[in-house]
Amino acid sequence: MSDLKVKDLRKFYGRRGDIVGVDNVSLEVPQAEMLVLVGPSGCGKSTTLRCLAGLESPDGGVIEFGDQKIFDSAKGVAVPIHRRDIGLVFQNYALWPHMTGWANIEFPLKSRRVGREERKKKVAAIAEVVDLDGRLLDKRPAQLSGGQQQRVALARALVAEPKIVMFDEPLSNLDAALREQLRSEIRRLHEQINFTGVYVTHDLTEAMLLGDRVAAMANGAIVQLGRPGELFDSPATSRIARMMGYRRLCSITSRHGHWSGSDCTFAGPVPQGLSMSQSYELLVRPEHIAIASVEQDINSLSDQRYCIGGGIVTGAGYLGGEQELSVEFLGRNLRLVVPLGQSFVPGDRVNLSALVSDTRIFPLAEQPSTTSSREMEA
Ligand code: ADP
Ligand code: MG
Repeated sequence: MSDLKVKDLRKFYGRRGDIVGVDNVSLEVPQAEMLVLVGPSGCGKSTTLRCLAGLESPDGGVIEFGDQKIFDSAKGVAVPIHRRDIGLVFQNYALWPHMTGWANIEFPLKSRRVGREERKKKVAAIAEVVDLDGRLLDKRPAQLSGGQQQRVALARALVAEPKIVMFDEPLSNLDAALREQLRSEIRRLHEQINFTGVYVTHDLTEAMLLGDRVAAMANGAIVQLGRPGELFDSPATSRIARMMGYRRLCSITSRHGHWSGSDCTFAGPVPQGLSMSQSYELLVRPEHIAIASVEQDINSLSDQRYCIGGGIVTGAGYLGGEQELSVEFLGRNLRLVVPLGQSFVPGDRVNLSALVSDTRIFPLAEQPSTTSSREMEA
């Protein structure tokens, strides 16, 4: 059974209700799964989370926790936040400033009327799980570092063993080293305690490392939901591909039944499954771009490769066993890493290519205005 079910969730802001917070978001989170909502700032991640938590009143939709209906706009159901069995972790820690770490962690137990002895046991146990020692627990938030405060916040969210734990960019205020450390600790906590989690981040690495499944959001909607590997290998849109680290190489279009580059020299096998009446963009991860000197015949490279055209090496540096190159291509600067042995110097003219299987092709938003009706039919 799913621990969390959301159907057609909608929330709009603004006096005229014309600012989209979320529009028709539906999702299910099975028990003990960590679902990550990822996307650029303003895409509706926090709005979704705040609606689930009860911090925000949705304009429409249904939310269920297990078999309990938490929100139903049509039936006027709206369970208040303190009656939802959840733990919350925010970016800004949101600890009670006048309470010690211990008292902050103890708070959810007190409000659930857990007895004194039991509280003591539970706070001590969870403090150990999140690696907070007794000395720190006697301090107030202002006397703790950011990382320590976030450990207190994690312990507070987990101590009452809520069914669902929600995180809104919990690591975004921490420096890079601490972020990495807490990131793997959150993963360990999830494996150890097995809560059902909803985790919001704009950071792709965090999403891929923490999510059992990842929902990529844009403009208040979920564009793709799947396992991290699925989004990585088969991004549904060019926007998600970009989020996954793919970069646009060039555009291709068909003329008289042949595919050619509209801004590059395109050669290689005939792309499969494309409509002749549409232009496309070719995306690839930079580490999958291969370069060869122009003397090499591009058609002899391989029948599994798209050759994308020529660039000029503008910089070269050594990185251990590899060479890092800056290559100017279509007016852009690509940073490429190539194995040593292939040696290039600034000024070299090179051909760029990528394996067909590493390439992702998406329709370009605008149709070329020059496409004639005959080509449209081709
Ligand atoms: P994210 O968390 O993905 O960065 P949010 O869910 O916070 O995005 O915001 C989604 C959209 O809703 C944004 O356009 C944002 O400006 C708008 N929004 C969020 N909260 C409010 C609010 N309280 N008042 C008006 N607009 C809001
Ligand atoms: Mg947000």
